[in-house]
This record gives sequence, C-alpha cells and structure tokens, in this order.
Amino acid sequence: MIWNREKEAMDQKTMRSIQEADCAKLLEKVYSNVPFYTKKFDDAGMKPADFKSLSDLSKFPFTTKEELRDTYPYGLLAVPKSEIVEIHTSSGTTGTPVVDAYTLKDIEIWSEGTARTLAMAGTEAGDVVQNAYGYGLFTGGLGIHYGARKIGANVIPISAGNTKRQLMIMRDFGSTVLTCTPSYSLFLAEVAQEEGINFQQLGVKAGCFGAEPWSDNMRVEIEEKLNLSAHDIYGLTEIIGPGVSSECEAKDGLHVNEDLFYPEIIDPATGEVLPDGEKGELVFTTLNKEGTPVIRYRTRDITYLMRDRCSCGRTTVRMHRLLGRTDDMLIIRGVNVFPSQIEHVLMKIEETEPHYQIVVDRGATHLDEVEIHVEVEESFFSDETKKLEKVREKIDYEIKSQLGISARIRLVEPKSIERSMGKAKRVVDKRQI
Ligand SMILES: [Zn+2]
Repeated sequence: MIWNREKEAMDQKTMRSIQEADCAKLLEKVYSNVPFYTKKFDDAGMKPADFKSLSDLSKFPFTTKEELRDTYPYGLLAVPKSEIVEIHTSSGTTGTPVVDAYTLKDIEIWSEGTARTLAMAGTEAGDVVQNAYGYGLFTGGLGIHYGARKIGANVIPISAGNTKRQLMIMRDFGSTVLTCTPSYSLFLAEVAQEEGINFQQLGVKAGCFGAEPWSDNMRVEIEEKLNLSAHDIYGLTEIIGPGVSSECEAKDGLHVNEDLFYPEIIDPATGEVLPDGEKGELVFTTLNKEGTPVIRYRTRDITYLMRDRCSCGRTTVRMHRLLGRTDDMLIIRGVNVFPSQIEHVLMKIEETEPHYQIVVDRGATHLDEVEIHVEVEESFFSDETKKLEKVREKIDYEIKSQLGISARIRLVEPKSIERSMGKAKRVVDKRQI
C-alpha cells in the first residue's frame, strides 16, 4: 500500500519544482532566523537569493555533526522556543548530544514520514504494531509511534528490552508488525525457541528494522526465523529520526521521502556532488522542518542513489542500503561508539599498556558483542589473580559508565597484540552484515 500516493508517486518533474520552491524558502528562513546559518552563508559568500535552482544548492556550505554539537542546546532553533512542542537528542555517548526540536508541524512531518515507512512494510489500519524501539529522548520509539497512530494501527509502546514479556505480548495481543533493531529481532527468535514459542504460529507479518547496519544475509535469517517480511528503515536524529527512507516490498533500495528530505551524494574528500549511481557520502537538507532545520547535513553514511522506476509504483528516489561510514564509528546495539573513545578510557587506567584491540562480533545471541583485549604490565601476571581481576573490573566499569556499552575485557600479556608498522589495527569487526 502506498500511504501518500500524491507525494510518493509524483512525477519527478513536479517533485523537482516542489523541492526547489521549498528549498528557496528554507534558505531564506534559516538565513534570517538562525545566526549560525547567517554567518555560515556570509562566510561562504552566499545569499539565499543566489539559489535559483536545485543545482545551486551545491554552492551552499555543509553542516557537520560537530557544528550541531557546538550549537547545543538551542543554537539551531529557527523559531521562538515557545513554538517547540517536543525535544529529542542523540544518545550523546560520543560527546555533546545533537538536539532535534520539533514544532507541531514538525511532529506532523515526522508522523507522515514514519507512516510511509510502516505502510511500505504493509502496515494498515487495524494492524497491531509492537514497537520495541526505545522510548524517551531517542527518536526511534516515538517516531514510529506517531506513524503507527497516523495509519490507524494499534500501537503497543513496549519499548526496548524485556524479551520474555515482548514474546508474551506478541502472542497475547496478536502483534502483526514488529519494529526494533535487526539484531534484537534475532535475539527475540532465539528466546522464543527456548520458551517454546513458535513464530510460525504467531501472526507477525512484517518487521521494520533499523538503527544499525545490516545486510541481505541477515534479512534471510530474520525472515526465516521470525516468519515475516523484513524491511530496512533509515533515519537519524540530525534530520528528524526514523521516517527518512525505507524499503518497500521490492526491497531494492530505500525510498527517500524526498519531498521532505532532499538527498545529495557527495565525494567525502572534495565535497563535490556526485551523479546518481555513484557511491559517496549521503547529505540531507530538511526541506520543511521548522524547529531545527539543517542545510546539507553530512551524514557520513556511504551509499548511492537510484532513480530507475521501482516495481511498487513509487517514483521517489531510492538509496542503496548503507555501504559503510566515512569515519570509523562502530554502532554497537544501536549505540554509537568510536574506537578513540575506548582508547580514551583504557589510556586513563594506569595499569594498562597502550596496546589494545577491539573485537566486535555477533555471537550466538546475534547481538553485537564487544571484546576488548588490552595489555597489562608483566607484573600483574604473577600468581596474584586478584590484582588482575581488580584491573579488569575497573576497565569494565569505566567502559560501561562512560560509553554506555558492555564489553568483555580480556587482559593479555605484554606484546601479545600484533604490532603494526603503519596504522594499528585497533578494530577487528567480525560481524557478518
Ligand atoms: Zn518501491
């Protein structure tokens, strides 16, 4: 089902003219209302009036994640604070959080985006949507919630975690659509098996899975184990949350809600806009957002755009499933972690040596597991195992409290981690995604 045929199946020419008109208005608005953008445009020697067609957007400066952090908390507001009705932020585990402030109209745009996302997976009025994305400042929970309500589905706001209860609710309330991270869906399947619950007998027909990268191989596994149709969904706090793009039944790229979020692909090194089909960094401009609009936000996600006609009848541009990141950020169970942060924690603990390796894998549970191998001084490997255990506990505690992730800590003897003459291999990512 196409939720908004008028917008999602619009001819591309009309789409361009709408995007152009909205973009012109947006540039005017941020230039006059957000000092951050006034200065940025002035520094680049650009005025909103220099925008005459969509191709002119490439002359305007990018917005980076660092800049969004620097403007914390209210520096990007384009409307008076009194017009904001809701605020969400990124997790903040990698530094100052990024703020997304929504006006009533922004909530409407958000609901529209996630309604399209859910509809692409086959959600209709009367469906029971089990929303296992986290509720709270994280955009996943409420974003999906609004879309499900808009469709007229019955949303179960169960939030993340409590796996046995998830399964009980799923069975007792007859959930038909599941929304969570892809790795969590596999964990659900595993616990179901232990509990003697058979997904073949549950009525879950579709799943919207996002917030971490996953592959077609994982899709096969999910669809088999949970007996449902698994759809990739994409969104980010910096833009609005979920509802930016998602897969239809063709599962051949994610349809971008391009009337709301204008995508560009750039060469991450030069910033130059690349033609459709070429791989590069995904950049978004929020065309209609009121509270915290962003111009040419660099997502650091690598993908390419596809404009050939999709069999579903939608005409919106599609982005390929994410191919990687321009930086080395790890996404562990939905939490963004940079190896440099782990290093930062380790290096503050004096018993450790500056040699470590981070091993990321999906174990038997299908959830991301992190093992940190770190060398400690020779003297610790005496018969005093208590001492060693203390160091291990200390690292464990620091990683948990500072990064919000759990890791297995393995203390190893000096020189046991492979040395490199060039760039050290700090991360071994064994996840098959
Ligand atoms: Zn399609």
